[in-house]
Amino acid sequence: MDNRSGKGLSFVKRIYLPRIIGLGIGLLSVAAAVAPLSPPIWIWCALLFNGLLWPHLAYQWAKRSTAPFQAEQRNLLLDSLMGGFWTAAMHFNPLPTVTVLSMMTMNNVAAGGRRMVAQGLVAQLVGMLLASLLLGTGLQLDATPLQIYACLPMLTLYPLALGWVCYRLAIKLAEHKRRLSALSQTDSLTGLLNHGAWKDMLLLKFQACLQQQAPAVIALIDIDHFKTINDTFGHVVGDCVLRQLSAELQRNLREGDQAGRYGGDEFCVILPGTSEEQACQAMERLRERVASYRNPQLPHLRISLSIGLSAFHPGLESPEHWLDQADKALYSAKRQGRDQINFAHGEVTALKLAYPD
Ligand code: GH3
Ligand code: MG
Repeated sequence: MDNRSGKGLSFVKRIYLPRIIGLGIGLLSVAAAVAPLSPPIWIWCALLFNGLLWPHLAYQWAKRSTAPFQAEQRNLLLDSLMGGFWTAAMHFNPLPTVTVLSMMTMNNVAAGGRRMVAQGLVAQLVGMLLASLLLGTGLQLDATPLQIYACLPMLTLYPLALGWVCYRLAIKLAEHKRRLSALSQTDSLTGLLNHGAWKDMLLLKFQACLQQQAPAVIALIDIDHFKTINDTFGHVVGDCVLRQLSAELQRNLREGDQAGRYGGDEFCVILPGTSEEQACQAMERLRERVASYRNPQLPHLRISLSIGLSAFHPGLESPEHWLDQADKALYSAKRQGRDQINFAHGEVTALKLAYPD
């Protein structure tokens, strides 16, 4: 409900300025057309009210409403009703009539599509009927030069204002789309790429490696006995450990390396342009830093990592094959005692350290 009113409020604000401009300059074209008909004084008062006061009243009315979106749609229908009223009041003088009705219809299309246009047309007809009842009917088909000139500001400035509002809206939508797209690729807990986005990246890097015959290594990193960490210290601490590891990972990587959260307590990294030795050193640095992590409030918390590495080689059939090799290397690291790095093809590095107490 809050969101709805928030959304409605921006709609109300978006319409405020174009309504001030549209009705302010629309006043000129209507005044020039009704003046030769010598209307009663209340018509002049109504015209001034509609052209100068109504935009502010409509804004306040919709802004203070509990449902601003619906209130603004009602205001737009009242605009149409008053527009219809003025066309009959000026005896359907062609140029101002077409100007007023087409501007109102343009508003209704922009604000609510087909349904709003249909409702707007009904409101315009009601307005015409009302004016005919109050002022009598008539037809004034000749326009004086003054009446033509009085329509020019409306014909030029109002489309400009409405176009500007639509342009601003399009920019805002593009920005929202960009943010949503970034969100859909991000793991919400760690801020790293999520599973799907990382796999898309893997496909791109695999193709680049194939084409350029460039070296690259992928790493699968899994926290040892993470379930025990959750069970012993609670899931909140478990989440902190995941965030801590992702922060450490980002600190250790170069620009161009792509880290993601593969799922649960498993992380994945693509290290392009990296030899096996360099990848091993980078991951060993990470393993050591994480192993030396201490939290004064949780003195018994220890974190160790098992890491499987796989270097790109032309014999790989697909990104999945590459990933499968890293997965097998990780599985071997787990089987051979955890807290260690293992390369695909099975060699355990000489970097294994004792599991810290
Ligand atoms: P191993 O050394 O073999 O990797 O053992 P493990 O306990 O780390 O492995 P396992 O796959 O059995 O446990 C992973 C655990 O991670 C289980 C699951 O409850 C926990 N987990 C998955 N996602 C999250 C999360 O977002 N937050 C927290 N706190 N825990 C998670
Ligand atoms: Mg684990």
